[in-house]
Amino acid sequence: MNILILGSGGREHALAWAVMQNPKCDKLIVAPGNAGIARIAECASLDILDGAAVVGFAEDNSIDFVIVGPEAPLAAGVADDLRAAGFRVFGPSAAAARLEASKSFTKEICDAAGAPTAAYGHFTDAAAAKAHVRAQGAPIVVKADGLAAGKGVIVAMTEAEALAAIDDMFGGEFGSAGAEVVIEEFMEGEEASFFVLCDGENVLPIGTAQDHKRIGEGDTGPNTGGMGAYSPAPVLTDAVAQMALDQIVKPTMAEMARRGTPYQGVLYVGLMIKDGAPRLVEYNVRFGDPECQVLMMRLGAQAMDLMQAAADGRLADAQVQWADDHAMTVVMAAKGYPGSYAKGEAIGGLDGLPETSHEMCFHAGTSRAEGKFLSAGGRVLNLTARGTTLAEARDRAYAMADAIDWPGGVFRRDIGWRAL
Ligand code: ATP
Repeated sequence: MNILILGSGGREHALAWAVMQNPKCDKLIVAPGNAGIARIAECASLDILDGAAVVGFAEDNSIDFVIVGPEAPLAAGVADDLRAAGFRVFGPSAAAARLEASKSFTKEICDAAGAPTAAYGHFTDAAAAKAHVRAQGAPIVVKADGLAAGKGVIVAMTEAEALAAIDDMFGGEFGSAGAEVVIEEFMEGEEASFFVLCDGENVLPIGTAQDHKRIGEGDTGPNTGGMGAYSPAPVLTDAVAQMALDQIVKPTMAEMARRGTPYQGVLYVGLMIKDGAPRLVEYNVRFGDPECQVLMMRLGAQAMDLMQAAADGRLADAQVQWADDHAMTVVMAAKGYPGSYAKGEAIGGLDGLPETSHEMCFHAGTSRAEGKFLSAGGRVLNLTARGTTLAEARDRAYAMADAIDWPGGVFRRDIGWRAL
């Protein structure tokens, strides 16, 4: 089978690594990919937001199955274009991808499905939004409605902060994403992520994870795309997962199907858990990055079979072969990230790292020149390991991080502190 993965980050490297282990994979192309992915698969330059270009590429390369990594091509309808051209695709339609692309849409679906989530108001002008904040008081959460790369959410601890956020959003700070604003009740509790595959009708849980958004140890400093993750998340017990399935995920899937926009792909269910009860924080319509890295390390070769079962509407008969294990990924970033940082620095020590079923360095932002790996982004490497305990996974991940020779690289030493 010829497989095409769209994307270029650590998530896509982990997906590629899992797909390559499946004996059904004859050829794997990742577009555009990165220097780490190029060591295990063919990389091709392609505008992955251009549906016609992606369809043409898939035709030219006799592709049998496409996995869409990031949200932007999904929101742009690339999965629709591929399906219309007859391709087998893992990933939702643009209509179903609104579960991530519009926060007010998700709230409306939760209302219709009776799914527990934060109380909210939806506003298209600043005066009404501010009146709502003054009436509710702080803490309160102000969100740009559209995709803003994780930056369009302000958890305001004071009323003044919330009012300033409203001015910023309606003032155009997030472009069209901020033309509409959702204001939510502040939820207390512990956050965790629940991952389920969906085939339009059936759902199949494939794991839980927790990530670390802040740049600094002790969860301090500015937000990032994620500095590390581990799976499973102890707070997301079987009982909590069952409640999330019954009260949130299945009613959402049923409502999407009822509207004629069934959801197919992976659903990332961001939960706030308090006193053993989950409430929805957000949906994402793709794997999280770096959560995908720990999930793929735990699932291995079966990941591709499960994604194909979702794409074919066969999830009712699918099963996950669970290993009683733990995985952790430690993100190595360029010094200065998430602010400004240098690119093009040489990274040594990569060739000596172990590459096994329980230890892998997934590349997130690297390039290659004259035989050397160079840093090429903010988040650069994902040291990912598996173990019979989380402590064992952690020790393996940090042993890899310590073996890397890159003075400009920084990472947190405390990934997994909640669970350890
Ligand atoms: P990302 O893509 O980074 O996950 P996003 O832009 O999709 O973010 P959300 O996930 O909705 O935004 O919110 C980002 C973070 O803000 C959440 O992970 C959570 O920590 C916090 N948050 C969001 N909504 C609430 C809420 N109602 N109460 C408390 N915290 C919240």
